[in-house]
Amino acid sequence: MPPIREQPVGATEPRALPSRAAHSTDIDLAVFILADGFRADVLRALCESDKMPNFSRYVLREGSHVEGVTVLPSVTDVAYLPMLTGQYPGAANMPGIRWVDKSRFATGNFVVSGHRSYVGPAHLRFNEDLPDSLETLFELSPNSMAIRSDIHRGLSSGSNRFYGMSWPLMFLSHYFKRSDFVDKFAFNSLIRSLNGNASDLPRFIFLPLLGVDTASHAHGPHHKRTIDAYQRIDGIIGSIVTRLKKFGVWDRTHLMIASDHGHSQTQDHLDLTRLVSELGYSVFEHPSIYPRKLDAAVAVSGNAFANVYVASDGRWERSLVGDELEREHQRLLETLRHRPEVEWAAYRHDNGAVKIISDSGEGLVRRKGERFIYSYEGSDPLELGFSSASVHESEALELTIDGRFPDALEQLSQIFTSERTGDLVVTSKPGYDLRGRREWPEHRSSHGALCREHMKVPILSNRPLSASGPVRTVDIFPTIAESLDLTSTKPIPGRSLW
Ligand SMILES: [Zn+2]
Repeated sequence: MPPIREQPVGATEPRALPSRAAHSTDIDLAVFILADGFRADVLRALCESDKMPNFSRYVLREGSHVEGVTVLPSVTDVAYLPMLTGQYPGAANMPGIRWVDKSRFATGNFVVSGHRSYVGPAHLRFNEDLPDSLETLFELSPNSMAIRSDIHRGLSSGSNRFYGMSWPLMFLSHYFKRSDFVDKFAFNSLIRSLNGNASDLPRFIFLPLLGVDTASHAHGPHHKRTIDAYQRIDGIIGSIVTRLKKFGVWDRTHLMIASDHGHSQTQDHLDLTRLVSELGYSVFEHPSIYPRKLDAAVAVSGNAFANVYVASDGRWERSLVGDELEREHQRLLETLRHRPEVEWAAYRHDNGAVKIISDSGEGLVRRKGERFIYSYEGSDPLELGFSSASVHESEALELTIDGRFPDALEQLSQIFTSERTGDLVVTSKPGYDLRGRREWPEHRSSHGALCREHMKVPILSNRPLSASGPVRTVDIFPTIAESLDLTSTKPIPGRSLW
């Protein structure tokens, strides 16, 4: 690793935020629709060719369409956290839809403990696994309602509509590779709730819609059936606005729409668990949770992202850092970085740094106060386009937004703040994923990684926002809070877009 030169890239001083447009004080209702799996470029192309008439009419005509980035890992539910709690997955200790907690990982007598997979019935535990330090929008705004939200802390009894009822349908949607009927039930549940008096309306409504994500996994992000799903959601949004108009509240509504991740077409599947097993490890992988002697665990999300955990001399108590990981698991690291399906692997290095290794080079990123210090050897695994750099945190997004790995410095730093994040984080290249024989039906599209296809997401508002450059999904929480004249009571990394 060459000595790090403290050479600033771009302006040396933090960029001043644009002057803030005070939000309208006439907002009685904030509605947030999470358009799961919407790709930013696909939505923009559809809007530009007049194929999303309700987006155009009710959102874009007078509102904002902002370039956004999601979080690492870019996977469903985990990537809802920034929007509903204002926190990154690292701070939420939620590094994937499957994870292992090494401090509690034990083979036990009947089942292995200290792990989670939110795929299947354990979905119901997502909410209870969130740390007390988080604050949800529902806690901040007690008069809230959600439709089928896995994050529901703070919602009063009966205010998470269609939640319990939805599970049989979710099961069917997975195996029939479509969730338009789940969205339809969710929409009907919302409409039924809008049948009372306007004065009884909640102040905040959250509605996730899954049709595009499911169609993308089943057919690919550009398939006709996926485009049909975008247009179905456009139709749902039109119907919701029509109902709010009938209620006489549309003029006092702030509607935000955003996605949790994009998608990339997947042709080949690397069975990461089998690969690690072939290196001589006894590997834990969901759903096989029976007790046995184990010295590695693979937890795939998305399926282009994986947390990989390894024991040290049979012990699981804590994460391995830098030299000890390199010394004890050199063959695993070398095998992973040179696999053609693997984009790069990353792991904790000394003094809080994160090391990134790829086929052609290795990089080191660390935080120093308000700056990121980045250096690399060989080819830059993050392809940031600058050599040795010191980047102020206020510039980290704008400098990387057009690269292959948008917001790489911030995202790699935040994910390793979780003690449940793997000893190694592995991502696959577009065209591949990391979960082979266990995934059925076969996925033809993936997400979860840091590549631009997964990270870039649309963020829309029916009212004009002041944001002039790219923003993060962590900015949605303080924006909705401000719409409701509320302020987070916890420290959060985002800023309001008003
Ligand atoms: Zn999703």
